[in-house]
Amino acid sequence: MVRAFHDFGRFTLKQLLSEAQVQAGVRRLAAEISAHYDGRPLTIIGVLTGSVVLLADLIRLLDMPLRVGVVQARSYRGAATTPGALTINAESLPEIRDCEVLLIDDIFDTGQTLDELFAQFGRLSPRSLRSVVLLRKLGRSRVGLEPDHVGFEIPDEFVVGYGLDYRDAYRNLPYVAALEAGELVEGAGA
Ligand code: 5GP
Ligand code: MG
Repeated sequence: MVRAFHDFGRFTLKQLLSEAQVQAGVRRLAAEISAHYDGRPLTIIGVLTGSVVLLADLIRLLDMPLRVGVVQARSYRGAATTPGALTINAESLPEIRDCEVLLIDDIFDTGQTLDELFAQFGRLSPRSLRSVVLLRKLGRSRVGLEPDHVGFEIPDEFVVGYGLDYRDAYRNLPYVAALEAGELVEGAGA
């Protein structure tokens, strides 16, 4: 079994977005979000674990009254379960009925995670429900939903850093990098 966390450094990284570019993107997202909510109270919900870095940076650039919650979304894509079926651990969620809610995730790939979260959160009767992602992969979406705020469009490559992992490693990189495809181990989840 490959233990990428302990093999840190053995993969070839190709930087896609520098730390300065990422930070500029986060400031752009904060400006868009501030303009949209115009000082109204906001409940921001981070999708664990990939969104935590963006969440921490973004909320410090927002100055409306703000609550923060997190949700664990785990998709099972094995043969025994429906592809894309998602379970949500809502234990650490604040009350969102009648609140303006913004879901925050690291990356929009096929869109299935956010699409399913929207369906499930919609049943909790928020006043409004929107989404922000740092990255969106081009040409991959399999759903009708579009994220409301997107930091960067990126090519269809497997990326790590700024919250995104490969087998639990690399989340702490301050920049975004692609891993060389030939070095990836089949079946690595995110
Ligand atoms: P989706 O449901 O949109 O296909 O996938 C969303 C989730 O898949 C993300 O929250 C992330 O956990 C994972 N994911 C998709 N693409 C990548 C990638 O390039 N790198 C990493 N580290 N995770 C990814
Ligand atoms: Mg994720």
